[in-house]
Amino acid sequence: MDRLVITAALNGSMPTKEMTPHVPIGPEEIAEDAVRCCQAGAGMVHVHARDHQGKPTLDPEIFAEIHRRISQRSDVIVQISTGGRAGMDTEARAAAVRRIRPEMASLTTGSVNFPDQVFANSTEVIEQLARAMQEAGTKPEMEIFEAGMIDNALRLVDRGLVARPLHFDFVLGLPGGQGATARTLIFLSESIPADSTWTVAAMGRWQLPMAALAIAMDGHVRVGLEDNLYYRRGELATNQQLVARIARIAAELDRPVATPDEAREILALPPHGD
Ligand code: ZN
Repeated sequence: MDRLVITAALNGSMPTKEMTPHVPIGPEEIAEDAVRCCQAGAGMVHVHARDHQGKPTLDPEIFAEIHRRISQRSDVIVQISTGGRAGMDTEARAAAVRRIRPEMASLTTGSVNFPDQVFANSTEVIEQLARAMQEAGTKPEMEIFEAGMIDNALRLVDRGLVARPLHFDFVLGLPGGQGATARTLIFLSESIPADSTWTVAAMGRWQLPMAALAIAMDGHVRVGLEDNLYYRRGELATNQQLVARIARIAAELDRPVATPDEAREILALPPHGD
């Protein structure tokens, strides 16, 4: 089995300081949290940008500042979100990718009902975002909210917009999307090309059991406050605590965590600095 790549989804676009004081909002806070998570075992961080009021934004300059501050202090892989909660204009969602040329960015290959809105991604939108990533040399992480999105991702390969091997993130337990069950995770992981890598992002109380399952299944794991605010029932978590717990479980299961450079090799990213 490969070493385990832990992704820390640090902030998302939903958690506020009122919900948890531990969510990083400003670029410096995000960078500090990224460094702590990397020390705890994360090989990658997934980040969203917020404006000065803490609201989600697609402002490429804020993304660039986050990216710069993290990269100055850590070699952790930075994956930026192209999610639509901060705005649904496609070019605006691609702007940070074009500006930063990050190693990775998220790409949702279909539409899904979120609890508060429809996250609409037409074929045209998906292809436009994929093309921006291709031009920037950014590898997409395919965000899979239901099985048809895997087929949509493979169509991007057929159209020459994405190169294999692909990397998938199976998003489980979001109301409106697929449930967080072992059966679902097995089905999805067996539905992707054999040369692919995959990680699981399960929401709330499913984060820990689905992560443990993924470790045993030779998958990878995403944890963090974007998906889950709690360490256990009634106890707020920090990102670092969530990462450190997965690293401990993985060590017991004989899957030591990957450093950022080992994660690059596992995810077929170019070596750092290239
Ligand atoms: Zn996200």
